Amino acid sequence: MSTPPTRCLVTHLESPVDNSLHPAGKVHGVHLGRPLVVRYDLEKARGLIDREEMASRTGGVWRWRELLPLPWDIQPVTLGEMPTPILDCPNLGREMGLDFLQIKDESTLPTGSFKSRGMTVAVSMAKWLGLKRLAAPTAGNAGGALAAYAARAGLEAWVFMPGDTPVVNQRECLLFGAKVFSVNGLIHECGKLVRENAEQMGWFDFSTLREPYRLEGKKTMGLELALQCGWKLPDVILYPTGGGTGLVGMWKAFQELQALGWLRGQALPRLYACQSDGCSPICVAFDRGERHAETFNPAHTKASGLRVPAAVGDFMILEAIRQSGGKALRGEETRLLSWMEKACSLEGISLCPESGVCLDVLAKLRAAGEVGPADRVLVWNTGAAQKYLECLPANLPTIDQHQPLGPQLQPFLNS
Ligand SMILES: *Cc1c(COP(=O)(O)O)cnc(C)c1O
Repeated sequence: MSTPPTRCLVTHLESPVDNSLHPAGKVHGVHLGRPLVVRYDLEKARGLIDREEMASRTGGVWRWRELLPLPWDIQPVTLGEMPTPILDCPNLGREMGLDFLQIKDESTLPTGSFKSRGMTVAVSMAKWLGLKRLAAPTAGNAGGALAAYAARAGLEAWVFMPGDTPVVNQRECLLFGAKVFSVNGLIHECGKLVRENAEQMGWFDFSTLREPYRLEGKKTMGLELALQCGWKLPDVILYPTGGGTGLVGMWKAFQELQALGWLRGQALPRLYACQSDGCSPICVAFDRGERHAETFNPAHTKASGLRVPAAVGDFMILEAIRQSGGKALRGEETRLLSWMEKACSLEGISLCPESGVCLDVLAKLRAAGEVGPADRVLVWNTGAAQKYLECLPANLPTIDQHQPLGPQLQPFLNS
């Protein structure tokens, strides 16, 4: 292996397919058509940092500097990512028959979704490595985040989205100055378009898991969760799974924390990958006990982040949930909006439709007794409800401006 970059603990990258090693500090795409994974000198990390040191720092992503691939003397491309709150949900918990239900609310991150975690790291690496034109297929929020971080970095963002991508995602990309294309097809077809034209256009393929560094940013979800829980992880975690970067990243975080000795031999949480029954390729593969997933067709769901019929990291998602003792489960498409409304109105949390899928899965797990009333359950809210204009209730009652109180207020007067 060539010498790793100075002041950075990355030793190499590794292929989970043939275990081949690849040099640190370089531009990388896929190997044998599958993702590469960044490895660190965790022994050395143990000598440099400990749990108290990490707790004493600020920041949601860059506090984990020693466990990230950007050399320490390089300024990251950042929009001030802060740790996201873990919120108790007693009302929703009561509804589900759970004593300890929490939501980790990523809607507070830059551009309103957790995609910023991956992009701050990947765009920082891209800039450091001298890339100029970043291109990505997106089902929605990844495009907005790429556009914003590329703008911050002074790089070009080229975004390819299915025609039915939420209107806010389409317009935010334009607002942040990206070149945006609406494609007659789903995200995997947008991805194909990027790959086919990459060489001619000088695009670097920024698709989920087709470059190795977005995963490292998403990994901070697991690191941050552990820190906030006082290094005592929940029993059960539900995660809305599309391309799976967040789930795979979380699992990688737990492995690294174990290697650092920071989890003190505790059992790791059961990870539940949640998908809509309108697009559930990982669930199909899980049910059949297969290593890879087949393309799901046709794919329909309002949870646009989960409209991913084929994931390049499918085997990594399946391996993580199997190792954790969890499952891949379907939530019902017909119930996702009502769960979204429940979380918003009962808890004041701006819950995205993707996480509505998780709540439906959770209700089923409770009904089946697979999750008990005393289990500590955590659900990821991966984005803000406001980004899904098409999913928000639309009809407002109107009041006749010539009357101080419209007739429709009468029933409430003495209530
Ligand atoms: C992208 C996205 C997902 C899916 O995330 P993966 O890590 O790719 O599985 C879930 N929810 C929202 C809001 C998203 O934007």
